[in-house]
Amino acid sequence: MATDDFMDDTISRRLLLGRFAAATAVTGTFLLSPAVLAATKHRSEAAGPTHRGTRPPAPLVMLDPGHGGKDPGAIGVSGTYEKHVALATARELKAQLEKTGLYRVELTRTRDVFVPLNDRVARAQKRGAALFVSMHADALNDHSVRGASVYTLANQASDAQTAMLATRENSADRFGDPSFRDAPPDVARILASLVRQETRSGSARIAHTLVGSLDRELPMLPNPARHAGFQVLKAADIPSVLVEMGFMSNPKDEAALRQAPHRKLVAAAMKRAVDGWFLATGRMSVAEQSAG
Ligand SMILES: [Zn+2]
Repeated sequence: MATDDFMDDTISRRLLLGRFAAATAVTGTFLLSPAVLAATKHRSEAAGPTHRGTRPPAPLVMLDPGHGGKDPGAIGVSGTYEKHVALATARELKAQLEKTGLYRVELTRTRDVFVPLNDRVARAQKRGAALFVSMHADALNDHSVRGASVYTLANQASDAQTAMLATRENSADRFGDPSFRDAPPDVARILASLVRQETRSGSARIAHTLVGSLDRELPMLPNPARHAGFQVLKAADIPSVLVEMGFMSNPKDEAALRQAPHRKLVAAAMKRAVDGWFLATGRMSVAEQSAG
């Protein structure tokens, strides 16, 4: 299937070995019904360290401020750099998420440095992130276009504008390592395909939640849920999404994103979406969220 071929090179040896090591979790995820899974989860938690008062670590959210260092990203009509807007909003979102006490939050870059796209993905995988959110404010050729939009990975771009965005984003990376290309054995291939399937539906859900949440606060692009072959969304095992918080090519969007109160608003909308996503995945209960 074309979609699977598309992502084959992102299934690393590390991922597969990790999944084999955690074989029970993988079989559980794919072969058991949600009800059985929930019961199993509760049983193992009751018997495990939770019972003795040590809680499992909070899920890790990896925020990915786009660009950085020698790569400024898009430059706005009045000279604002996308890389600065992305980092400032990511910091704001990190603070808002951490305030709940429900998540661990890390950034793929915490200062103005260049980080290759593959390294961003690799970092999320190495740290065991439950969710990957890339944050951008790119430029479009049509300067009248404004609004937020949300992107997931797909073989085929949803539209020409998105295809161009993905090309531009992917060209930021000239330092990527060659991917691991050994053909995995059949079992590994099936396993990898199942992991990808789960990741794809998780990505689709976070995109949907983000669109709903951002739409309450911000102008949105028409058809704001879009997809294309973004390099930075290629973690085969982590639900990943890219948010264009607005476009530097539009004077109104640029002016808004320069303002801290506006970035706070954007971050708050994204935070609500993250809350909603974790609630829907069953990784968190309403009680936990309202306690946090
Ligand atoms: Zn960007």
